[in-house]
Amino acid sequence: MGIAAILLAAALAGPAPGEPVRVGVLAPEGSEIALRDWAPLQAHLARAIPERPVRFAFLDIPGLRRAAAAGDLEFAVANAGLYVELEAAHGASRIATIDNPQVPSPARAVASAVIVRADRADLRDLSDLRGRHVAAVEAGAFGGWQLAWRELLRAGVDPERQLATLRFEGFPMQRIVAAVREGRVDAGVIRACLVESLVESGEIAAGELRVLGAASPDGFRCARSTPLYPDWPFAVLKGTPRDLARRVATALLTMPPDEGGVAWTVPADYQPVRDLFRELHVGPYANLREPSLAAIIGRYWGWALAALAALLAVVAHVVRVDALVLRRTRELRAALDERDRARRASESQREKMDHLARLSILGEMASMLAHEINQPLSTIGNFAEGIGRRLDAGRLEPEPIRRAAASISAQAARAGSIMDRIRAFARKREGRRERVDLTEALDASVALLVASGVPVHPVLHRGPGPAWVEADRLQIEQVILNLLKNAHDALEGVASPRLDVTLARSAAGWTLAVSDNGVGLPPESLARLFEPFFTTKPEGLGLGLAICHSIVEAHGGSLTARANAPGPGLTFAFELPRLADE
Ligand code: ADP
Repeated sequence: MGIAAILLAAALAGPAPGEPVRVGVLAPEGSEIALRDWAPLQAHLARAIPERPVRFAFLDIPGLRRAAAAGDLEFAVANAGLYVELEAAHGASRIATIDNPQVPSPARAVASAVIVRADRADLRDLSDLRGRHVAAVEAGAFGGWQLAWRELLRAGVDPERQLATLRFEGFPMQRIVAAVREGRVDAGVIRACLVESLVESGEIAAGELRVLGAASPDGFRCARSTPLYPDWPFAVLKGTPRDLARRVATALLTMPPDEGGVAWTVPADYQPVRDLFRELHVGPYANLREPSLAAIIGRYWGWALAALAALLAVVAHVVRVDALVLRRTRELRAALDERDRARRASESQREKMDHLARLSILGEMASMLAHEINQPLSTIGNFAEGIGRRLDAGRLEPEPIRRAAASISAQAARAGSIMDRIRAFARKREGRRERVDLTEALDASVALLVASGVPVHPVLHRGPGPAWVEADRLQIEQVILNLLKNAHDALEGVASPRLDVTLARSAAGWTLAVSDNGVGLPPESLARLFEPFFTTKPEGLGLGLAICHSIVEAHGGSLTARANAPGPGLTFAFELPRLADE
């Protein structure tokens, strides 16, 4: 396929230039907009994507859910809770997390406070709330309810059964503060730091309210009743062109901090939020809720009918039927537990997949980041040349030279801060060489491939023992996975698809070959396979094999491709040197 055709294909794949880039931003209460002023972000993105207008839509929780479900958004900015929901329901994927210097870290940034009036000596910690009246924002609010819900459970109070009342007052959160102050409820759940900021602005008196079970400060400046959870992520939604996602990710990571020092950094780990939802059986885990008797009958009415018939037919055997029902319920529980376990396993696979994808995105982003850093560097060069020219001409007035030196140091600081932003990512990329068993790396990659739901499973050929090499395990898994996925793409639509993977000893070490009977490639394309941006797929980036090639070379090995003879398809093989002590 020629360059023109590739460009045409790329143009057809993405939305037309001029169409807006749509970013949904969670803003459940008007004041949230004021709290987090998004204008600088919008302006920064507009500069980074000059050919398309950037539209921000400020939405409440149901509004953002609806917009994501309808495919109206390319990106979403939301709290950690809603993000995890969008991840499960609509394939959202985080590309950056807010980096706020006021909190210990982006992964430990958000908490809730359960407040009571300071004069309530009878309320000391969360367990004192049993049988009391409690107000929160809404059932689906993350900082405004769910964080506190989990802590209440941990303190032995089930809010669904053991409170006198649980009232959802809605946004804004100040309503909860008012209800507590006026004594309409015993306690209220709000976002940590709200009390502090109301005291600071003089709206309430210091010492009027108290936070229950306040955890030790631990680098966090406000009183809180819950552990710390990750800050807001910036997420890309399914179907957004990868190129656009990459450009936005690069723009976020290179965005200068605002006056408060708030910036964007590499995405945090949101696993603690998934754990929370799993424990509460809400969000993506809502279907794990303990089934009520009505739900069991509704879902398993066949069983219920059978039990009823048995009851009618043999009244004398009531006791036995009882035992039967008990057993059925136990089995049902076991089945639910099993489903929970399977879900957890597939989730950890997805996390791993995610990580691998992020590794390769860094490679792809490298050239754009280099461009970003090049700008301050070339400005520095210009100023330095200017100083040189002045020296040559004997014009040595201190003022212009001082100004030039100041500009040089400002530009150097800018380049430095860009480097800082990507360092976290880069550190993850740093090769960690260790003894790796290629058979294990192969099994892990195949497991990931199979978990992603592909129809053709690879047939493995290998000896019984381990195949030791010295390698970065993640990178080698990335190479194997890439080859498997490419083979898979080539097999689409083939009548009797076959995918063979062979691991064998070779002269210098170990060779792993991935062979398919797919569409193959003409010889002239075969020669260009490892060039960056060579692709024949409309959605392809053409970077996978280029990255694999450089990874294998960095390991002192080689990656080659050849057409199968006889027969259709290609075979990709890489060889890694054997360990010195083998
Ligand atoms: P991408 O998959 O994004 O196109 P890659 O670097 O992974 O990028 O692959 C580049 C190109 O090499 C693909 O577009 C495809 O044409 C070709 N290719 C890779 N693997 C195979 C294969 N097993 N069979 C046929 N063609 C392949």
